[in-house]
Amino acid sequence: VTDPSINSTSGSSNLIARVNKPLQVFEDAREQLIVAAKSGLTPKIESIDLMRSCGRVLANTVHSDMAVPPMDNSGMDGYALKLADVKFGPNADWSEPILVCARVPAGASPEPLLTGTAARIFTGAQIPAGADVVVMQERVNVQGDQFSISAKPALQVGEAIRCRGEDIQTGAPLVLQGQVLTPARMGLIASVGVGQLDVYKKLRVACFFTGDELTMPGQALRQGSIYNSSRFVLTAALASLGCEVIDLGIVPDTLAATQAALRQAAQEADLIVTSGGVSVGEEDHVKPAVLSMGRLDLWQINMKPGKPLAYGRVDRTDQSFAHFIGLPGNPVSSYVTFMLLARPFILALQGANFEAPRYFHLPANFDWPKPDKRREFLRVVINQQGALDLYRTQSSGALTSMAFSDGLIDVPPGTVIAKGQSVRFLPFTHLGA
Ligand code: AMP
Ligand code: MG
Repeated sequence: VTDPSINSTSGSSNLIARVNKPLQVFEDAREQLIVAAKSGLTPKIESIDLMRSCGRVLANTVHSDMAVPPMDNSGMDGYALKLADVKFGPNADWSEPILVCARVPAGASPEPLLTGTAARIFTGAQIPAGADVVVMQERVNVQGDQFSISAKPALQVGEAIRCRGEDIQTGAPLVLQGQVLTPARMGLIASVGVGQLDVYKKLRVACFFTGDELTMPGQALRQGSIYNSSRFVLTAALASLGCEVIDLGIVPDTLAATQAALRQAAQEADLIVTSGGVSVGEEDHVKPAVLSMGRLDLWQINMKPGKPLAYGRVDRTDQSFAHFIGLPGNPVSSYVTFMLLARPFILALQGANFEAPRYFHLPANFDWPKPDKRREFLRVVINQQGALDLYRTQSSGALTSMAFSDGLIDVPPGTVIAKGQSVRFLPFTHLGA
């Protein structure tokens, strides 16, 4: 197979040697992308309100300068007392009556307990000095301003008390530089009273969608055309990664139009993401366009779907460059390669620590007797038994398989699967979907 785009370029590409060579190994490609992302400039830092930080990458580790909880407090509605003050007669089902001398709602600052008495207390309220247990209200019998405690089960010192510093100790590193701010991590930062954070500036990502057949939803479909579904998948996926998306829309299948779009994208963005036109057909202009304006470092990965994925750079006039990722055109291929390769790359570019997604090992509820020579990522659904059903179609054009399955199984090249066998499952929720 000869590649027309490679013949028509100046010959500077280090990929020329790869024609007819084996495809790039998936993990090597991912590693190469992460190295490329980290070898560039460190992203700039900005200070923002905690409230607006969801999805952003923390640029400076947040330490706690306080303990959480800040004071011993009650885990229940009940009665705070000193356990040694509770008297049980021989074989008695109930304790001797205890007098209630105080009432401590959440937010109150309680007086020390009077010896031999109890305080009525509510969830989250500070434990009065002198008390060492909270007796839950369900196990007491109230008579006026006194109550008795059922003897069983035996009470323990510290029961139903949430201790000062139990969750977070003073001085502890809380959320680390490079960690993505999730709702729970935002809450954690709020719980130590920090309201302003240093995060890395948003990555500017320009994207465009190649294909003369593409039409925007809302417009009439011409004969032979299809709607530009990938625009919605990819711009939403980029936005959910915290990127500032510059959407350049549909670009016609010509070299000149592709070059013009790349030029504009390189001027406006740190990263260019394209869809389609990156295979070897005569109508595929993305690769030759990139080669004419920069370089390609990666092309054609040993994976299915997603083989045509490309990575390189588009030069700007001032010696700097924009990163370039060319995703395949098929909507399943583009989204799968986005999740598995573009997402780690983008996280690394944003200053985030990348951790390879961990596999779940679940049984396959299907046979896969005719494997591909490439590493396959099959779309599967978790069934009621916790096993994996194969989604009804595995076509790289069928977006239903992404919309209505739960994740991918990672099948090594040439591997047969028999029903019941354990396979490596990657839930979409772990891939940012
Ligand atoms: P290509 O890689 O450009 O040859 O495209 C491969 C397949 O994906 C073709 O069937 C295209 O029509 C389809 N395709 C390309 N871009 C999109 C898009 N943005 N939305 C939906 N389908 C697309
Ligand atoms: Mg095309």
